[in-house]
Amino acid sequence: MVNISPFVHLVLIAFCLVPVNSLPDIIRIGGLFHNGDIDQELAFRYAVEKINLDKTILPRSKLSAQIERVSSDEDSFHASKRVCHLLRQGVSSIFGPSSNSISRHVQSICDTMEIPHLEMRWDYRIRRENCLVNLYPHPSVLSRALYDIVEFWGWKHFTIIYESNDSLLRLQELLKAQRRTEYPTTIRQLPDTNDYRPLLKQIKNSGVAHIVLACSTEKIYNVLKQSQQIGMMSDYHSYLITSLDLQTIDLDEFKYSGTNITAFRLVDPDNYNVRKTVAEWSQLELRSDKKPNERAFQRNDTVIKSETALIYDAVHLFAKALHDLDTSQQIDIQPLSCDGQDTWPHGYSLINYMKIVEMKGLTNLIKFDNQGFRTDFLLDIIELSANGIRKVGDWNSTQGVNFTRSFKEQQQDMVDNLKNKTLVVTALLSDPYVMRKDSAAKLTGNNQFEGYAIDLIREISMILGFNFTFRLVPDGRYGSINKLTGEWDGMVRELLEQRADLAIGDLTITYEREQVVDFTMPFMNLGISVLYRKPVKQPPNLFSFLSPLSLDVWIYMATAYLGVSVLLFILARFTPYEWSNSQHPEKSDTQFTLMNCMWFAIGSLMQQGCDFLPKAVSTRMVAGMWWFFTLIMISSYTANLAAFLTVERMDSPIESAEDLAKQTKIKYGVLNGGSTASFFRNSNFSTYQRMWSFMESSKPSVFAQSNTEGVERTTKGKGSYAFLMESTSIEYVIERNCELTQIGGMLDSKGYGIAMRQNSPYRTMMNSAVLKLQEEGRLHILKTRWWKEKRGGGSCRDDTSKSSSTANELGLANVGGVFVVLMGGMGVACVIAVCEFVWKSRKVATEERVIQMQCY
Ligand code: GLU
Repeated sequence: MVNISPFVHLVLIAFCLVPVNSLPDIIRIGGLFHNGDIDQELAFRYAVEKINLDKTILPRSKLSAQIERVSSDEDSFHASKRVCHLLRQGVSSIFGPSSNSISRHVQSICDTMEIPHLEMRWDYRIRRENCLVNLYPHPSVLSRALYDIVEFWGWKHFTIIYESNDSLLRLQELLKAQRRTEYPTTIRQLPDTNDYRPLLKQIKNSGVAHIVLACSTEKIYNVLKQSQQIGMMSDYHSYLITSLDLQTIDLDEFKYSGTNITAFRLVDPDNYNVRKTVAEWSQLELRSDKKPNERAFQRNDTVIKSETALIYDAVHLFAKALHDLDTSQQIDIQPLSCDGQDTWPHGYSLINYMKIVEMKGLTNLIKFDNQGFRTDFLLDIIELSANGIRKVGDWNSTQGVNFTRSFKEQQQDMVDNLKNKTLVVTALLSDPYVMRKDSAAKLTGNNQFEGYAIDLIREISMILGFNFTFRLVPDGRYGSINKLTGEWDGMVRELLEQRADLAIGDLTITYEREQVVDFTMPFMNLGISVLYRKPVKQPPNLFSFLSPLSLDVWIYMATAYLGVSVLLFILARFTPYEWSNSQHPEKSDTQFTLMNCMWFAIGSLMQQGCDFLPKAVSTRMVAGMWWFFTLIMISSYTANLAAFLTVERMDSPIESAEDLAKQTKIKYGVLNGGSTASFFRNSNFSTYQRMWSFMESSKPSVFAQSNTEGVERTTKGKGSYAFLMESTSIEYVIERNCELTQIGGMLDSKGYGIAMRQNSPYRTMMNSAVLKLQEEGRLHILKTRWWKEKRGGGSCRDDTSKSSSTANELGLANVGGVFVVLMGGMGVACVIAVCEFVWKSRKVATEERVIQMQCY
């Protein structure tokens, strides 16, 4: 065992702690730039200068930038000659170039010579060479960011426009995820020519509004410009651009289009560090002895490409790693020859140091994972607004998408966007929603129309600040789908074919329509009901005095009367206390003969009394109970009588939709192609199914082409036709047409909404405006104006009040039956009197004949 003295021990420890710091005074680094990459070259030179000035990194050495320019059409052979030239100069690393083909070649030379190669370009390869460090985020991470944002927005249908197979690689995650969903994604490649219009037109005709544009930064402007030319730059269109350099393009022409153009960016030009750095390197260009390039002079902002920022970061990363390596190793840098066998022995160590460095650069945090890919970096989400490009959120690999704009800000943006725009509003003529103005003068434009819907959209436009043009729907239909062809008609079609922005009127919100268009919240609630002629007044019944009690009760009363009379008669015979004759007890007698009992009972029933009364307790009990019975019965009768004499009896053959369904005499129908027809057609309820079959099979057709036609048919039908219509329209009709009324309640409950194209950016604003109008009571005021006041509203209200004021007088028709009964009674009394007279005369005559015969 070797014995080391304590002194030697100490010296060794001290030697280990003292930094090695053996770097040469000048450290050469090589940069390969394309002829046009002036910004990158400038950033490279500036980074070197900055590090040289900064005494915290590599304090004893100076970096020296060795620049080689390659032309874009240069072949790999020439490029490798330039690399070898740099290596001969003794460079310790090579930066660039940005082109794919040359870069591979440079990389293989660096790998052989073990010289660190730093790249800033987009590279999709998963396996990378040992001596390579690429600062550009790996495409798989970028594609996850794209997927996250599409997922966040909830895009279902979208089209991907890509330039080359390489650009499709950026969308791998998106394509994989899309394969798992039921929604088809269209993928179209940009043609090689510069005319993208035919392709864009096809996309436009397919109705897709969301586009993912994966093409080089240079082509973005052209694609957007041509999209604008064919009308694909509207409020309804959204573009997600995969390039990280959207901010470097002049998008002023698209600022006011309202189109949502979104992208990610790696460098924030508003960041203080970026602004300061870029401003300084512009100065460097001015100071340089080379002819200053125009681009730098024109630069009035700090917008730089990602690759330019990355080259600045790459030089810093290299310097920091070298500085760290210097503290642990003795480093010497020798010129190398491409033809020789020598390699740089510190190359791999330096690469490993670079991969463990964590630092902040122009592209935020620079950190690598164990496979050498950038990790934990932050991407800004940027959007084009009327004020230019601005940051609206950010994305990172752990938290995904994070929009920093508040909902209110988003809304405000939309409102600003909508200001002074002219929206096309489709509608159809339907009272009182949209009507032509009565005017002798020839009216044009929006001036031709008036009504509830016109006032409503005017109020909304005042709140949101847009203009509108009214256009009547050519086929005059609301919107229904043809199940065979899958095509829509009416106002819904106008929206689907992008001829209108909004559809307004008595357009019902239905599930079927909601699948293809968007609706605002309902501005009016309603349900289906029956419009029919008013019930006819029945002439009063002559015997209406009998109506207070039902026939059964009358029969029971008569039976009770007879029963009580007979019981009284029997009990009076039975009880000894009803028999009396004080002078001749042997000739005792009772007044309660059967006839008298009946007279007594009827006297009590008529509240008149009788000249004899029961004396025994039992008979009195019968009488008492009978009087109680009559008291209650007569009071009940009297109470009910008034109602029956005064109330007019109305005769209506139907009282509800169910009554309609039960019969076939009265025909009934609905509006053709409206939501009421759909309600019956799609109903699972047997009554409504039966009604729909009846309507379909009726000849001639019971369907109306408009509500007005349905109303006319009901009026003229005089009870032979009923129209199933929406309650609000019924309400309007019966205010003016006094012959008609609503029968029964509502069969369902729904609402009218303003329809717009699917995913319309106006939906939230429109909703808020409708809600505001509702809360302020404006909707109620509008309804009162158009239902009760304008165009003859309220004409049927007088009718009702008149009829109710005359309802109290009773005519002969009401009480005539009582006279009839009186006369009948008198007549019967006379007949009985005659009978009695004849009977008595015959009896007297017979008795007198018997007496005479006895006398003789
Ligand atoms: N409001 C209905 C619709 O939107 C039209 C009228 C009706 O069907 O009764 O289709």
